[in-house]
Amino acid sequence: MPLPIDYHNHPQAHSVKPYSPALLQPWADAARQRGLKEVAFTDHDRYHEGVDFGEIDRLRAANPDLKFLAGIELDNDPVSGKAGRLWVEKNWERLDFVLGSAHYLPGDAEMFDQVSRKEEFSKRDVAADCARYVRELEGMIDRGGIDTLAHLDLIKIHGVWHPEGGLRPHFAALLERIRREGLAIEISTAGWRKPVGEQYPHVDLIREAQRLGIPFTLASDAHSCAQLAENYDRLSELLAGLGIREIAAYEKHRRRMIPI
Ligand SMILES: [Zn+2]
Ligand SMILES: [Zn+2]
Repeated sequence: MPLPIDYHNHPQAHSVKPYSPALLQPWADAARQRGLKEVAFTDHDRYHEGVDFGEIDRLRAANPDLKFLAGIELDNDPVSGKAGRLWVEKNWERLDFVLGSAHYLPGDAEMFDQVSRKEEFSKRDVAADCARYVRELEGMIDRGGIDTLAHLDLIKIHGVWHPEGGLRPHFAALLERIRREGLAIEISTAGWRKPVGEQYPHVDLIREAQRLGIPFTLASDAHSCAQLAENYDRLSELLAGLGIREIAAYEKHRRRMIPI
C-alpha cells in the first residue's frame, strides 16, 4: 500500500500565487495518481496572502475521495516572521496544521539552506551554527502555534558537516523538549534531492524520537505537484527498516495515529 499522507507542500512555491482551481487541482490529480489519501498545503507564511480557505473548500468539494489540510509553514524570517505569526493566530481555527521551521540563523538576512551557500558553509563552524539553529527552533516552540517541526536537521543540508559522534548529541535536548511539548516531527524526503543526499532527519534522530515516543508525519516538501510524494518508495523502505508502523495525521490541529 502506498504511504497515505504528504504533509509539507508549497503550491505557490516561491512567490504569491493566489489559490485557484487552476493552481490546486493538479495537486489533487497528482495525489490520486500516487495513492495519497491526504495532502497538506503548507505554503511559506511570507506568501500567506495567496492562501484562500474558500478555494481549499472548493477543492475538497471537487475531490471528495481525498483529504486536504489547510496549513502553513511558519518560520523565523526576520522580516516577515511577525506578520506570518499574526496571520496564523488570526486564522488558527481555519487551519488544520502548522509546520514550524527555521531557515535563518540569527543576524543573517539570507536563508542558510540555499544550496548556493555550500562553499561558504564548508568553511564555517557548523557545530556552532547548529547550536544557534537549535536555539531558533526553541524560539519557535516558545512562541507556540505549531503542530509539527519541519526538516529538523536542515542545518546539515550542505553535506559539509560530519560531526564525530553524529547528530544525536546536537539534537538530544531539542527532541526531549519536543516530547514534553507534545509536538510531532516530519520525516522528509526533501533531503534526498539536496547536496546532503539524506532524508530529514538522520536515522539517529528518528531512532531517538522513536525512543521518546515522538510521532512522525511524512513529507516531500514539494514545490511543484511533480514533487508530491517524491521518493516515497524509498521512504517506505526506510520506515519498514525502522519499524515505524503508524504515523500522525491531523485535522484542525487534532492529531490521530494512522497505520501504514
Ligand atoms: Zn522549510
Ligand atoms: Zn517547505
